Amino acid sequence: MTARLPEALQQKLAERLRFYEDIGIGGFYRERGNPVASPDVVDRVAAEAVNPRSEEVSLPKRESKPLPPPPLMASVAPKPVPLTAPTGLSLFETLNKIENDSLPLIRENLGDCKRCKLHKTRNTIVFGDGNPNAQLVFVGEGPGADEDEQGLPFVGRAGKLLTQMIEAMGLQRRDVYICNVVKCRPPQNRQPEPDEVAECSPFLLRQIDTIAPKVIVCLGATAAQTILQTNRGISHFRGEWQEFRGRKLIATYHPAYLLRNPAAKSDVWKDLQKVMAELGLSVKRKAT
Ligand code: SF4
Repeated sequence: MTARLPEALQQKLAERLRFYEDIGIGGFYRERGNPVASPDVVDRVAAEAVNPRSEEVSLPKRESKPLPPPPLMASVAPKPVPLTAPTGLSLFETLNKIENDSLPLIRENLGDCKRCKLHKTRNTIVFGDGNPNAQLVFVGEGPGADEDEQGLPFVGRAGKLLTQMIEAMGLQRRDVYICNVVKCRPPQNRQPEPDEVAECSPFLLRQIDTIAPKVIVCLGATAAQTILQTNRGISHFRGEWQEFRGRKLIATYHPAYLLRNPAAKSDVWKDLQKVMAELGLSVKRKAT
């Protein structure tokens, strides 16, 4: 007795195969003599689609940090956060002085932010999303229309591609943290302007410090240039390890660029393979 894969699952598999072909992994075939999956295979594949961890990922264990109490319930009111560096201290040094910083506290400090002109056209502040103890943080440029609508980073077409890339690494979105340089959508998706980046980036740096990932992946030039404080074009250092405050950082192309230039996907995949090696990630397929 045989059964067909559910249509939604067929579509998911087709998307995944297209993605692998785009990044240069091909040669998939279906065995002759087994043209249609048996019901137990259908059940197993469907279960794996629901729980993609059936592709076992060995990710080195990391001690999870105890979460601080929610700011509003803290017995001591949080100290005001100095966002402007006092004389004699660099901004980075100042940021180091924020004690007991946490993502909820950073979000609270951001508040209903009107620090730059982007607040006038946004619908929602897109703070960031994912695992607060992630070993891997992706940083993009700024929210687009879908993100502005939903309040979550990378949920549009480019976000779908980023999700595929994360899954190709053997991870899920919930394993990593994703955020942007600016938290409000620039009108017409233009690049954020220097004054906007200057106002918003201290919050990004605090997010990175608080999460303390092992690896930061900058998606596109704006993220890389902001964090590394450089004007160099991304093509000069894409795919090369950089150091950022004791952490490893690599810059690669933004998924939105890949949607316009699919040929660059294989470059990005090479960069992500370096990240996988650094994190000790290996994808082991279960024997069937
Ligand atoms: S982009 Fe950043 S600094 Fe500007 S209004 Fe939004 S949250 Fe505030």
